[in-house]
Amino acid sequence: MHRRPMVIANWKMHTTLAEAEILARRVFKVAEHVDDLDIVLLPPVIWLPSLLESLHHRPRGLHFGVQNFYPQAEGDVTGEIGTAMLKGLAEYVLIGHSDRRLHFGETNEEINKKVQVALSSGFRPIICVGELTQVMLKEKGRGRPTVLERKSDVLAQLKTALAGLADQRVEHLVICYEPLWAIGTGNNVSGPHVEAVLEQLRDYLASAFSPSVAERIRLIYGGSVNPSTIAEYLSQPNIDGVLVGKAALTTQTFLPIIEAVADRSHHLIQHPDHR
Ligand code: PEP
Repeated sequence: MHRRPMVIANWKMHTTLAEAEILARRVFKVAEHVDDLDIVLLPPVIWLPSLLESLHHRPRGLHFGVQNFYPQAEGDVTGEIGTAMLKGLAEYVLIGHSDRRLHFGETNEEINKKVQVALSSGFRPIICVGELTQVMLKEKGRGRPTVLERKSDVLAQLKTALAGLADQRVEHLVICYEPLWAIGTGNNVSGPHVEAVLEQLRDYLASAFSPSVAERIRLIYGGSVNPSTIAEYLSQPNIDGVLVGKAALTTQTFLPIIEAVADRSHHLIQHPDHR
């Protein structure tokens, strides 16, 4: 079963509008030359209308999304952005990123609600799950996990995030494995480790939903991916793509990652001159 590979750029709270436009334009140029690859840009939401306006006739594989949203169409919710406002701006929505879990206390139940609302509002959810492992506890010089750390178990996160969903909906999701200790730290997780975790997640999806859902759903990895580490993920059969943070903020680091993923599927039509 062929799953369309993916590269997601999480720009977090970075870039000026001018920087965002330059970056998006360069990615657009590369996207014009690749086939069978989905590139998803997640800029700060405030830049989205301008980016969409300046990038007309986008290639089929270039998509935009948001890093967060409020799971309601509209309402008396000060400071938030509802799903009705994102119609036409975002195709994908990121849900459950560890920044949201840690800094805003988002629970697995709230993440499930967001997944449900996103799907019923016509968005494509990218759900992040990731554990705090013994490695991190050891680094902190502690042996006992806190309640938050215990709650962050990968499979438990996934089970609750998907609670109540029908098979047909699950296969359209993207699940991103992002261990907290690998995000923004330079401590990327090895290809075989990621492969083992994703294989486990796929087995769970096969038993909880169906083997065909498990075969179709895209499972990706995020955590300190850069041009020198991307290769080790591409040789693993269960890794369908990557979510990139820091390295997605410059063309020098992001474009080679896109090219590497495109090359893997041998669908690079021609190398654009982007350097
Ligand atoms: C992220 O923020 O989701 C992420 C993967 O960041 P980085 O690539 O910088 O680790």
